[in-house]
Amino acid sequence: GFPARSVYKLEEIDHRVRLLRSGMRVLDLGAAPGSWALYAAQKIGPNGKLLAVDLKPLDVGLPPQASFFVGDALELGNEALALHAPYDVVLSDMAPNTSGNRFADQARSFELFMRALAVAANLLKVGGAFVGKIFMGEDLPVARTELRKHFAGERLIRPEGTRTVSYEVFIIGTGRRAETSETPA
Ligand code: SAM
Repeated sequence: GFPARSVYKLEEIDHRVRLLRSGMRVLDLGAAPGSWALYAAQKIGPNGKLLAVDLKPLDVGLPPQASFFVGDALELGNEALALHAPYDVVLSDMAPNTSGNRFADQARSFELFMRALAVAANLLKVGGAFVGKIFMGEDLPVARTELRKHFAGERLIRPEGTRTVSYEVFIIGTGRRAETSETPA
């Protein structure tokens, strides 16, 4: 089974955006305990390739098409994440440890989102897709504007089962553009 209930979020995004297909190359940032990685690895199948990264180890074994290492996405360079690049899909479910200070948590979430977007801008194939979690706040429009620079399609998805008290949302970019404008890391 899946180690975290959060798998339904990726499942819903996958069904709505038609994200993951057999043979794809996927990068999963903030992968622990491992539900998204397991779901994505199953969807891409034995001909796909998945790299998962988190500050913490996974609680689940992954099939052979998937690999994992412990690392900090804010510290790692793009090269360290490029094992299976160029990617078809970059996922980020990264979230800070919540401190209780909503504004501090939002700022930290924005930082993680922007780092994931910069990685995606660097390592995605043209036409590739990005899914990034962000806590809703005053930075949300900035994140969306930055994402639109790199992707032809942009949408906001708040999965059905998301707890009402949660203020997280996923910004999805589809159709990675060919132009290489820079997003600062
Ligand atoms: N998608 C995962 C799953 O389905 O099992 C759940 C991810 S959990 C909501 C958020 C994760 O982001 C945590 O495991 C946390 O360690 C990770 N994270 C937070 N900051 C990070 C960073 N700087 N680099 C890598 N991972 C980070």
